[in-house]
Amino acid sequence: MPDTVLISLGLLTALAALIGAGVLVVRGHTDDFARAEGDLANLALALQERTDGLFKSIEGVLHDVVGRIPQACLRAGEFDGFAASQATKAVLVGASCSLPAIIRIDLVNARGRLVGTSNPRAIDGPIYLTGTSAYQALSADPSLALYLSEPMRIRATGRRVLSLAQSIKDTEGNFLGLIVSTIDLAHFETLYKDHLKARSLAITLYRRDGIILAHGPNPERVLGRRIWKPDTPLQRMIAKNSPTLIRDVSWIDRQERLVALHPLAGYPGGIAVSRTIAELMAGRRFEARLIGFIAYLMDVVIDTASLLGLKHVRTGILRAASESYLSRHDILTRLPNRMLFLEELKRTFVVSQRSGRDFALHLLDLNRFKDINDGYGHAAGDELIQTVARRLRERLRKSDLLARIGGDEFAIIQRPIRGRQQVRDLVTAVQDAMKIPCTAGGTEIDVGLSIGAALASSDGKTPTELMRAADVALHAAKSDPGGYRLYDVNIKDTRAERRALEGALKSALDNTEFELFYQPILDLGTNQMWGCEALVRWKHPTKGMVPPLQFIPAAEESGLIASIGDWILEEACATAMSWERPLKVAVNLSPVQFQRRDVFASVKKALDASGLPARRLVLEITESVKLTEEATATLKRLKGLGASIALDDFGTGYASMSYLRSFPFDKIKIDQSFVRGMMESSDSRAIIKATIGLANDLKMSTTAEGVETEEQLKALRLAGASQAQGYLIAKPMDREAIAAFIGDGQRAQQTPQDESVPARAVA
Ligand code: C2E
Ligand code: CA
Ligand code: CA
Repeated sequence: MPDTVLISLGLLTALAALIGAGVLVVRGHTDDFARAEGDLANLALALQERTDGLFKSIEGVLHDVVGRIPQACLRAGEFDGFAASQATKAVLVGASCSLPAIIRIDLVNARGRLVGTSNPRAIDGPIYLTGTSAYQALSADPSLALYLSEPMRIRATGRRVLSLAQSIKDTEGNFLGLIVSTIDLAHFETLYKDHLKARSLAITLYRRDGIILAHGPNPERVLGRRIWKPDTPLQRMIAKNSPTLIRDVSWIDRQERLVALHPLAGYPGGIAVSRTIAELMAGRRFEARLIGFIAYLMDVVIDTASLLGLKHVRTGILRAASESYLSRHDILTRLPNRMLFLEELKRTFVVSQRSGRDFALHLLDLNRFKDINDGYGHAAGDELIQTVARRLRERLRKSDLLARIGGDEFAIIQRPIRGRQQVRDLVTAVQDAMKIPCTAGGTEIDVGLSIGAALASSDGKTPTELMRAADVALHAAKSDPGGYRLYDVNIKDTRAERRALEGALKSALDNTEFELFYQPILDLGTNQMWGCEALVRWKHPTKGMVPPLQFIPAAEESGLIASIGDWILEEACATAMSWERPLKVAVNLSPVQFQRRDVFASVKKALDASGLPARRLVLEITESVKLTEEATATLKRLKGLGASIALDDFGTGYASMSYLRSFPFDKIKIDQSFVRGMMESSDSRAIIKATIGLANDLKMSTTAEGVETEEQLKALRLAGASQAQGYLIAKPMDREAIAAFIGDGQRAQQTPQDESVPARAVA
C-alpha cells in the first residue's frame, strides 16, 4: 500500500475509533462493564489505602526506634556500641513485637555490618550485609531515605518476606547505617485474599520496577517476578505511576484482563487489581447486538491501526471510558455525581420538551449530617450515606435517575410523571424508607431528610431555572414540619433573603447597631448573684430588637461573626468592668470564631483594653466547636490566662459525653430543654441528675438554664446544681438595667434578709 493511502486510512480509522469511544463513553455509566471498571478502580483504591496504612505503621515503628537513639550515639564511633547494648536489644525486641507483620528488626552500620538485632540469638562473629540490596541502595544514594526490597523466601520456614529499610543519619547528616525490618508478606496476602470474591479476580502488590511483592491467588508462583512483560501497556502505565485502567494480556494465566492500577501514596509500589475480560463479557447484560457491532467496528479499527503502528488504541479507548466513569460517578455510593447529574438533567429537559412528557426534579438533603459526621466519625458518616443511597435507589423506577450531588445532598430525576400526585407518592415512599433508623459505626442513627421538588412543565423554563426552583423548595422544606415542599411561586426564596440579611449585618456592624443584653445567673450555694451571661441583640433601625437566633446563623455563614464576636468580647468585658461588684461575665463563642480568628488574641485584646481580670471572664462554647489540636491549645491558653471555659447546651449534641472527655471544662450548662421537661419527664430529671453527678466527679460546676418556675428551681437545688439562670431569676436586660439590678442586689444584701424571700429578690 502506498504511504498516502496508509496515512489517510490511519486518520479514518482513528476517527472511527474516536466515534467508537464516544459511543462507549456515553453508554459507559449504564452498562455492567463500566460498573465492573468502577468496581475494580474502587477496589484498587481501597487496597492501596490499606497497604499504605500497613507500610506506614511499620515505618512508624522504625521511626520510633531511630528516634530513641541519643544524640551522642549518632556518631560513627558510638553507634556500634549503642546498637549492641542490652538496652537497645530490649527496644528492638519491643518494637518488633509491636506489629505482628514485623518478624525482626536489625541495625546495620555504615560499613554494612550487623550491629544490633531483635533476634533473640546473639550475633556471633561479624556478619556483613553489604550484599543486600537495601544496604547497597541506601548507602549509595544519600537522598534515598527508605528502601523496599524484593521479596525473599526464607528457606528454613518457607515464609515469604520483604524488608523495609530506612537510612540512619549522623548529626551532620552523613550516612551512619540503616535500620531494616523483615516483614512477613502473609499479612499482605491475607488482606488481599479477603477480597478475592470474583472468580477471575487477581490482586498484586508490585514494586515500582514491576517486581511482584505479593499476589492473590498465586503468591508462590509469581513471587519476585515482574508483573509485566517488557514493552507492554502494563509496563508503561506502571512507569507512569498514576491510577488507571488498562487492558492487557497477563503472562501469569495468559488471559486478557482489565487491570486497575493504583500507585501507593507513600511507597515505591502499587496495587493492581484485575479480572478477565472473558468473565466480564459473560456477565454483561446490555444490548449485545449494538455493542457487538461497536466491538466489531473497534476490532477492525484496532487491527488496521496496529497495522499502521498505532498500537494499543483499544487501551486508550478503555482508559477514556473508565476516566469518564470515574469523573462522572461518586466513588462512595457509585451513583452519578453532580457532573453527570447536570448532563442528565439537561438531556431530560430537552427530551421532555420534545415529547411533552413531564418530569420532576427532587433535591434531598440530610438533616444535621455535619453533626453526625463530627459526632460519630467520618467512617460512620460514609456508611450512613451508603445506606441512604441504597434505600433511595430501592424506591425508584429504572427510568428515574438518582445522583449524589454533594456531601449530604442527593438529587432524583423522576421521569416521566403524569401529575403532582406521583411526585408526592415518591416523596412519601422516600420518607417512609428513612423512618427506619440507619445503622452506622455500630450505632443506630435517625436520619432526617428534607426534600424540595419542582416540575419541569411549570417551574422552570431552563434546567437552571428548574434547579433554582427545586432549591428554593428544598430550603423551605428544611423549616417545614413535613420536611417536604413542592415548589410554588409563593415560596419565599429564603436564600435571597439571607443575602440581603448579610448585607444588612455588615452595615449593622459598621453602624454599631448591636447591643449586649445581660442575664443574671444565681449562685445556688450562696443565693447571691454569681454573674451574667452576655447575649447579643440587633437594634434594627426599622424592625426593632432582633433576637440572636435570627441573625447569628447568617453572621456565621458569612464569616461576619468573627468581627461581631470581637466587638462582643470587648463590649462585654468593658461593661463588666463598670459593675459595682466584681461579678463574672459569660460570653458565647461561635465555632466560626475558632476557624476565622485567633480567639486567644481576641480575648486577650478585650481583657487588656478593659482591664477586666481574666478570672472574671467565662467563655461558653458548644459542641459545634470542633476540638482540633489547635482549638484545644487555644482553650488551654485561655484557661492559663485565668478565664473559665463552659460547655453550653450540654446534652443537645450528638456526642456530649465524648466531647466532655476531650477538654477539662470548668462548667457545664445544662440545656433548657431538660429543665423545661424536668417536672413532667423522668428522663429529663434523670439526665439532669446524671449530669450534675458527672460534673461533680469531674470537679466542674453546673448551671441550669431556662429556669422559669419556683418548682424547677427547688428541684434543681435538691439535685445539687451550682447555679441557675432563667426568666424566674431575671430576663436578659440592657446595660443600664443590669447596672441597676446589680446595684439593687448589692443594697439588698446590705440590709438583713428573710430566708424565705424568693431568689429573684435576693439576686
Ligand atoms: P444560649 O447561649 O443558650 O443563651 C440562652 C438563651 O436562652 C438566651 O436566648 C436567653 O434569652 C434564653 N433564656 C434565658 N432564660 C430563659 C428562660 O427562662 N426561658 C426561656 N424560654 N429562654 C430563656 P437568646 O438571647 O435569644 O440567645 C439565643 C442563643 O443565641 C444563645 O443561646 C446563643 O447560642 C446565641 N447567642 C446569644 N448571644 C450570643 C453572642 O453574643 N455570641 C454568640 N456567638 N452567640 C450568641
Ligand atoms: Ca450560652
Ligand atoms: Ca445554652
